[in-house]
Amino acid sequence: MILKDKVAIVTGAGRGIGRGIALMLARDGAKVVVSDLNHEDCLSVVAELEKQGTQALAVQCDVSQKEAVDKLMAEATAKFGALDILVNNAGIYPFKPFLEMSESEWDKVINVNLKSIFLAAQAAAKIMPAGGKIVNISSIAAFVGFSGLTHYCASKGGMNGMTRALALELAEKKINVNNVAPGAIETPGATGAMTEEAKKQMNSNIPWGRMGQPEDIAAAVAFLASAGADYITGQTLVVDGGYILR
Ligand code: NAP
Repeated sequence: MILKDKVAIVTGAGRGIGRGIALMLARDGAKVVVSDLNHEDCLSVVAELEKQGTQALAVQCDVSQKEAVDKLMAEATAKFGALDILVNNAGIYPFKPFLEMSESEWDKVINVNLKSIFLAAQAAAKIMPAGGKIVNISSIAAFVGFSGLTHYCASKGGMNGMTRALALELAEKKINVNNVAPGAIETPGATGAMTEEAKKQMNSNIPWGRMGQPEDIAAAVAFLASAGADYITGQTLVVDGGYILR
């Protein structure tokens, strides 16, 4: 149990990769705060965790809103008395051709995917006096371009740069800051609307021969959140079945 008695917050944990991370951290012994925009989804993940004996708390939170993020931190520490691990997973990836993209569409993606890291990491670092782990879910979109996702690629590239600077500043507080950059992962948001044919096509483009599952990302997060990763900071771990090697 590499995370025994640690307290973790996972954002966007109502479904997809975030849910997979919440389940994996719990399996490794952590108490988990399950946070998402969708409160019903949070409650259902919490019920799943409690059924297997994990202490868990559901907190509805829009990660792009400072007040909501501050409330998330307050509720987590009120319930569990501490915070050891923050996983910034919530993110959106609405396709839109660049020339048709409105300013508000650009702002929304930057605020949910990037400003959220500023808000949550700052609030969390203030309540981690004995050190801690911050793990951000980036993307291979930080390294390669995707048409229709200029705002998303910018947000994830920004996250990688921010993580390096933040890791430097928080080193003296013994807070590790790292990213996991997933490739194509089967989740409701990414592949929920895909046909079986489109999934087959996607699988054939990946050297490993398949898309990833939320557990593939969760395993990397659990490692980076554990004491085994104490000497790793400011890094981005790509978990993509070899997709960007080509
Ligand atoms: P998903 O299936 O769409 O799940 C994302 C969750 O985040 C949803 O429950 C969603 O709630 C929630 N959310 C959306 N906006 C939010 C906000 N403002 N505040 C709090 N929660 C919010 O997505 P996913 O595929 O699991 O992706 C999770 C993360 O992995 C994202 O950061 C994404 O960029 C990254 N990623 C995913 C892939 C992939 O292939 N799946 C690849 C690379 C990176 P609602 O249901 O209410 O919208």
